[in-house]
Amino acid sequence: MAEQATPKQQAASRKWQALAQAEWMPQDLLLLAQDVWQARQQAPLPSVNLDLQQIALPESHAQGAPLLPRGHFPIHVPTVQALLQQLCALCSQQAPQLQNAVRDLYASMEQGAVSTALLVHALLNNDDTPFIGWADAHPDCPQLLYFLVLNSVLPQAEQIARAVCTARPQAGSWVHGHCPVCGSTALMGEFAKGAPSTNPGNEINKGGQLMQACSFCGTQYRAQRLLCPYCLEADAAKLDFFSVPEFPHMQVQVCQSCHSYMKIVDFRQHIDGLFIPDIDDLASLPLDLAAQRKKLQRLSPTCWGL
Ligand SMILES: [Zn+2]
Ligand SMILES: [Zn+2]
Repeated sequence: MAEQATPKQQAASRKWQALAQAEWMPQDLLLLAQDVWQARQQAPLPSVNLDLQQIALPESHAQGAPLLPRGHFPIHVPTVQALLQQLCALCSQQAPQLQNAVRDLYASMEQGAVSTALLVHALLNNDDTPFIGWADAHPDCPQLLYFLVLNSVLPQAEQIARAVCTARPQAGSWVHGHCPVCGSTALMGEFAKGAPSTNPGNEINKGGQLMQACSFCGTQYRAQRLLCPYCLEADAAKLDFFSVPEFPHMQVQVCQSCHSYMKIVDFRQHIDGLFIPDIDDLASLPLDLAAQRKKLQRLSPTCWGL
């Protein structure tokens, strides 16, 4: 008997179906993105060996130190390698225009010019060198290497973050911008739903707390509503919002100080609104284009290589 799909799997599948109807979405890229997402969900994961000594002490965490900086994430490289190969194969099958680039990558690895371990190390330590080198040599698909490596690491990054949060549960609102677990930048936000009322008709908790999702480890944490996550601007006069009619369940938070923006989903009035940051990010691509037309810069990396 087939296993029952989880609510997240069901919501993900509805989001992919909706995207397939979106006229602006190139359907070949959509199929590739969906396959990459599936491969990530189904990737076998090694057991996590957390060194609790490396987790920040409560005093330094309260000052803004991430619990475990991403450079210290114990990523198992052979597991990354297996998923990387699977994603390379998907790219070759789904996007014939990427076949030569994927062949180039295999050749560089065989020649020892680049290795999965080196790429993982660079990704964890925010070292752009190999990715910039790739982009220079492959102007047709400058983001491909970053896309492949990031998506191959993400399942483990999320797993490690869950283990860190189990060892040190998070509470309260985080005011330091970067992710409290790994220190990466925020990907998107969500205005959280309220807790179900125990007194129907007298709803007290209407929700609306801002939860931000990390662009690397996927942790969702409570953040301050009036605070730019990138430059920590807190002056309400410098923080603005805009929305577009086609995306009634989303807002874009704009910071006039650093000219950045962050997309925020608001599914409080949406019956089918489970926040799945990576898919919601892709599904709201026109909002990025709208923000760029306003000369705003996106500071959160996307896993879609866009
Ligand atoms: Zn994180
Ligand atoms: Zn800012």
